[in-house]
Amino acid sequence: MNSRRDFIQKISFSAAALPFLSLRGWAHERENMIMATEEPVLRVALMGLGGYANRVADAMKSSARARLVGVVSGTPAKIKDWQQRFNIPDKNCYNYENFDSIRNNPDIDVVYVTTPNALHHNNVLRAAAAGKHVICEKPMALNPKQGREMIDACKKANVKLLVGYRMHFESNTLEIINRRTKGELGKILFFQGLSGFKIGDPTQWRLNKELAGGGSLMDIGIYAINAARYMIGEEPVWVSAQEIKTDPVKFKQGVDETIQFQLGFPGGAVASCLSTYNMNNLDRFFLNGDKGFAELMPASGYGPIKGSSSSGPLDLPHRTHQTVQMDEMAGIILDGKQPIVPVDGEEGLRDLKIIAAIYEAVKTGQRTDLKV
Ligand code: NAD
Repeated sequence: MNSRRDFIQKISFSAAALPFLSLRGWAHERENMIMATEEPVLRVALMGLGGYANRVADAMKSSARARLVGVVSGTPAKIKDWQQRFNIPDKNCYNYENFDSIRNNPDIDVVYVTTPNALHHNNVLRAAAAGKHVICEKPMALNPKQGREMIDACKKANVKLLVGYRMHFESNTLEIINRRTKGELGKILFFQGLSGFKIGDPTQWRLNKELAGGGSLMDIGIYAINAARYMIGEEPVWVSAQEIKTDPVKFKQGVDETIQFQLGFPGGAVASCLSTYNMNNLDRFFLNGDKGFAELMPASGYGPIKGSSSSGPLDLPHRTHQTVQMDEMAGIILDGKQPIVPVDGEEGLRDLKIIAAIYEAVKTGQRTDLKV
């Protein structure tokens, strides 16, 4: 969006420097500048400056198309620190009280919400009402009702809503989807998704139902749900689920420690998945068809993602997931590019519907029909 102005500024600066450069140096400089400013850049404000925001901000340093230009935080000291680390001007810094005035800031295109889950809904509504595109972290919200409201609000404000599904741009993942689409794996019959880690500090928001909306399923099990859908390439029509709780003190009412769940797909495939906050080394996706298989392990960590398949290893080169994601999301927002696997609000909502159905199936002990 700001490429033309950047270009003019850089040209003016370089023209001033002209007497100090050889003609060849000038031509080379100018060529570099044109290369660097060919495509518009997505100007991003990060909201909620915690662990993941730091990771996204660092990754954006290597992004060709997205740049961190602003922050939203309730902690003045953090804002100061981020301003120094990322060279962010005062005029692009907001707190949760004055955030709505971001509507008057023409230098920010998108707000990237990386606050705890329970705050996504309200933060996305506010960003949309301020006329900004929104990227929201997973899970998009606490329940399908909130998800629908977020989609509607963004539609009404004529802004895009994307969900931070970084795996949708990961090359080994896309390679499997490509093989399945081409029929190389044959008829898909089975998917297994194992997603978990052993969670530490019992006081963190991830173990607080009010802020997390649930437990492991909302946070890490969502990767297995999401992968079952993009690996099989269909939407599930039924779900069954069982919960296992070994530590009811750490994992209080409404905060699931471990859930196993099964999803049934219209073409006959079944997904069998495990979501847990109580086991390490649990990050594996396995897709089986009647002509071949593909396996990723690790499958959804920060990478490198690696695996094997009936036709050899899956080890396409690693690129920082969040860098690729931000480049691709810039293409989606600025150029209307269509990703291979969607990352829009409707995609986030489907996962929320499945999560709600899994929690329901745990409660009733029944296989539950599902329409996503
Ligand atoms: P975090 O605790 O490290 O950061 C959360 C930030 O939100 C903190 O800076 C905190 O100060 C701020 N915050 C604002 N209002 C708050 C409030 N009322 N209560 C508590 N904190 C508040 O958490 P995180 O690991 O960065 O996770 C943030 C979001 O990002 C979550 O939705 C999580 O699911 C998602 N996430 C996604 C990935 C991914 O790979 N896509 C990875 C990690 C986290």
